[in-house]
Amino acid sequence: MKKAYDYLIVGSGLFGSTFAYLAKKAGKKCLVIDKRPQLGGNLYCEKIEGINVHKYGAHIFHTSNKEVWNFVNSIVDFNRYTNNPVANYKGELYNLPFNMNTFNRLWGVKTPAEAQAKIDEQKSEAIKALDGHEPQNLEEQAFTLVGKDIFEKLIKEYTEKQWGRKCTELPAFIIRRLPVRFVFDNNYFNDKYQGIPVGGYNKLIESLLNGIETLVSVDFFTSEYKDWMKYAKNLVYTGAIDEYFGYSLGKLDWRTVSFKTRVEDTPNYQGNAIVNYTSHDRPYTRVIEHKHFEMFGQEVYDYPKTIVSEEYSTEFQDGMEPYYPVNDERNNRLAEEYRILARKEENVIFGGRLGEYKYYDMAPIIEQVLKMYKK
Ligand code: FAD
Ligand code: UDP
Repeated sequence: MKKAYDYLIVGSGLFGSTFAYLAKKAGKKCLVIDKRPQLGGNLYCEKIEGINVHKYGAHIFHTSNKEVWNFVNSIVDFNRYTNNPVANYKGELYNLPFNMNTFNRLWGVKTPAEAQAKIDEQKSEAIKALDGHEPQNLEEQAFTLVGKDIFEKLIKEYTEKQWGRKCTELPAFIIRRLPVRFVFDNNYFNDKYQGIPVGGYNKLIESLLNGIETLVSVDFFTSEYKDWMKYAKNLVYTGAIDEYFGYSLGKLDWRTVSFKTRVEDTPNYQGNAIVNYTSHDRPYTRVIEHKHFEMFGQEVYDYPKTIVSEEYSTEFQDGMEPYYPVNDERNNRLAEEYRILARKEENVIFGGRLGEYKYYDMAPIIEQVLKMYKK
């Protein structure tokens, strides 16, 4: 029997959509299905009061890979958004990531040499205590990177809220990805390129999927497409890897976030897209004001209202959206066992953050699909 499609693609997130776009370019016929009522996976934005609201978490595209940047810019234009989050510690405001603005506000230091001397003093005790050993956990790592004041005001309680565990129980590497800079530079990322698609992420997804057959509100496992071989030569699966195998080896754990979103009757609520709340006096980790991702200058005031979302970090339970893989021994081992099973599946490609049980930013997802395309 002739099959209708070259690829049945489960999931219309960035992985599935980019794959479909490139497959179509190579002359292949695809069908993309998604169990959500809309396309785009976690990039999907909902329009409220004329503002694109990042429904599944704030997304900022950033990369140093020129090929990836050229690729996404060939699909849509990107704006000049640069991520400059601010931290609010019990009403005191500090710039992030840790840089000369932060050090000046904390200690009044004005030059890089003064800041370096202050940090050296702050971390000297911790380094002595380690006695030549590598930091064993996030707390030890933070103390040796930036010292006590920054740890206490900007790291400790935020991290506890985000991960639901003490800093002494978390791996050191989590904190290593935050830049520490002795320049007045509030750009959160070190990458060469960053921005938000002009017109929002839905535009990016719509352009990628232009001319491709799609179905929403269709769950692979409860639909006719479970027998995908009847319809397609290959399957691209970007859902959760343990679900694909019927949880036969056990369930993988996830961390999740949830959002409380409201309309504020003011054009400019907090003056920034992201404000982190770094103490326990607020139960949420951060507040997102969505319009600042796409509106600059006067445009902010052209819209009389604004949309804000409080972000809460939540322990995962059945029925919730899986967001972040949990990096502990049990889950790493279990995921690897599932990946071994996955490699044995014929004509099935597992991809994306759920399909591989790996935390991927958007740019590495595109990089990976581009590599597959070249192959
Ligand atoms: P997803 O977007 O999750 O897409 C998977 C799709 O598969 C979903 O639409 C789902 O409904 C569908 N699906 C699953 N199971 C089934 C099924 N059984 N049947 C049918 N459909 C199914 N990256 C950045 O680069 N910058 C950021 O600022 C950034 N911020 C983030 C913030 C948060 C809170 C999170 C969680 C992630 C963030 N990311 C960010 C990462 C980014 O979200 C991922 O790189 C991207 O979403 C991965 O795309 P994906 O296609 O693998 O997964
Ligand atoms: N972090 C922190 N204070 C902040 C922001 C981040 O202590 O204001 C820590 C926290 O432990 C977090 C890690 O730095 O898990 C990495 O931050 P990033 O913003 O990269 O994490 P994301 O929110 O993207 O997962």
